[in-house]
Amino acid sequence: MVDVHCHLNLHKFDNDYDEVIKDAFEKGVTTIINTGTSIPSSRKAVELAQKYEHLYAIVGIHPHHADKTDIEFEGELHDNWLSELEKIAKSPKVVGIGEIGMDYFSYKSNGIVEKKLQEEAFRAQIELSIKLGLPLQIHNRLAWDDTLNILSDYKKEFQDPPGMFHCYSGSIEFTRKVLDAGFYLGFDGNITYKGLPPREDTALLDLVKYAPIDRILTETDSPFLTPEPFRGSRNTPANIPVIIEFIALEKGISYNKLKLQIDSNLKTVFSI
Ligand SMILES: [Zn+2]
Ligand SMILES: [Zn+2]
Repeated sequence: MVDVHCHLNLHKFDNDYDEVIKDAFEKGVTTIINTGTSIPSSRKAVELAQKYEHLYAIVGIHPHHADKTDIEFEGELHDNWLSELEKIAKSPKVVGIGEIGMDYFSYKSNGIVEKKLQEEAFRAQIELSIKLGLPLQIHNRLAWDDTLNILSDYKKEFQDPPGMFHCYSGSIEFTRKVLDAGFYLGFDGNITYKGLPPREDTALLDLVKYAPIDRILTETDSPFLTPEPFRGSRNTPANIPVIIEFIALEKGISYNKLKLQIDSNLKTVFSI
């Protein structure tokens, strides 16, 4: 059982990530990937990965931070964020570049970063992933066409498969294009929420139904997106079985069959 995208590298886990990781392994999760969103959080993801055999890291600059690549957070200053990221990405526990992409959703805590800056950071990191031979973990929010158009410029250089879209949402038509481009789809605890996701026109459950099981990955995006019935509390990778159970039920297949298929998908995309 795998959590391909969580953030135990964020401060919300500073006091108890050892217990959180232990708890997830006890509940049957076998692989956890922490994803970076900045240089410091990418470095932290690698540090955690070095402590535990079954923990891995994906490193990159989130589109929210595409305007902060020169002056980083937490007092760090880099004249060349890309070479810093490349150094971090060369750790043997790094299995991908992410979460990178485009985000046109205006959050309370983060307005929309200038599109040009998002695109520059996205392209630079796609090129880094090609240089290092690492798959991509894409973050797309309301930027469907732009995200796919940018990716399609590199399709001849991508490995097969090129990677995954994390926290998947979009229309059926968009999903068809993402699958055609070879990407896998990561589903989170928000598939258990009622109604449409904000500003989306397709229910996540319809996407779960549409997605072939050999193209699905499971993730929690912890500490965010806690699945029902635990919504409201901090999410942890220990909730992966809840997500698998929900997808299995929706697709009318057995929990075990789905679990084994997702383990095999993990191998195909991230060679773990
Ligand atoms: Zn994301
Ligand atoms: Zn995330």
